[in-house]
Amino acid sequence: MNIILLGPPGAGKGTQAQRLVEERGMVQLSTGDMLRAAVKAGTPVGLQAKAVMEAGELVSDAIVSALIGERMDAGTGSGAIFDGYPRTAAQADALDLLLSERGQALDHVIELGVDEDALVERIVGRFTCAVCGTGYHETFKRPVVDNVCDVCGASEFKRRPDDNEQTVRTRMAEYRAKTAPIIPIYESRGLVRRVDGMADIGQVTAAIESILDGR
Ligand code: ADP
Ligand code: ADP
Ligand code: ZN
Repeated sequence: MNIILLGPPGAGKGTQAQRLVEERGMVQLSTGDMLRAAVKAGTPVGLQAKAVMEAGELVSDAIVSALIGERMDAGTGSGAIFDGYPRTAAQADALDLLLSERGQALDHVIELGVDEDALVERIVGRFTCAVCGTGYHETFKRPVVDNVCDVCGASEFKRRPDDNEQTVRTRMAEYRAKTAPIIPIYESRGLVRRVDGMADIGQVTAAIESILDGR
C-alpha cells in the first residue's frame, strides 16, 4: 500500500500520517522532516536547504527526490505514506519512476481539503515534542496533561522557525502555484480521494481509514 497525503501547509498531513503509523505500521516519508534533520545535522543538503525553508520556498526537486529514494530503500513496512512529497510536477514524475523501479505503484492520493483561513491559525499554534516528535496544537490538540507529552512523557516542546504568519503566506502561494496543479495528473488516473480536513482529527482519520480499507 502506497499513499500520498496531499494538502496545503497545516492541512493535517503530518498528524494523520502519525496516526496511520501507530495504527497500521505504515512508514511516514516526510520530506519536511528529512530536510529539518539534514539542517540540524549540518549536512551539505541541510546547508543548501536552510535558507530556502526559512523563506517558505521549495527546495530543489533533485534534493527531495533523492531523499525519498534513499528512504524507500531503507524499507517501508506495511506501506508508505508520502507526506509533503510530491510538491511539483517534476517530483510527481520522479515518484512514478522511484516506485516503478521497485516494482511498486500508488494506491491512493488523499487530498485534505481545508479553508485557507484556518491554516494560518493551525500553523501558528503548532508545536511538537522535542523528544519524540509527536505533533500538538495550542487549541486543537493540547497534551492531556499540560506540558507533558502524551506519548513519551517529555516536557520539552519546540516550534518550527518557519511557522510564522509571513512564511505561511509564501508556503500557501507555493502550494497553489506548484502543488495544486499536480492533482489533475492523479485525477486522470482515478487515484484522488478528497477528505474534509476541517473535520475533527479523529473523523479525518476515520475517513482515511475507510479509503484504505476499500470502503
Ligand atoms: P501539515 O503536516 O499538513 O502541515 P499538521 O498535521 O502539522 O499539518 O497540522 C497542523 C496543525 O494543526 C498541528 O498543530 C495539528 O495539531 C493541527 N491539526 C491537524 N489536524 C487538525 C484538525 N483536523 N483539526 C484541528 N487541528 C488540526
Ligand atoms: P508543511 O507541511 O507545514 O508545509 P513541511 O514540513 O512539509 O511543511 O515542509 C517544510 C519546508 O520544507 C517547505 O516549506 C519547503 O521549504 C521544504 N520542503 C518539504 N518538502 C518539500 C518538497 N517535497 N519539495 C520541496 N521543498 C520541500
Ligand atoms: Zn514525546
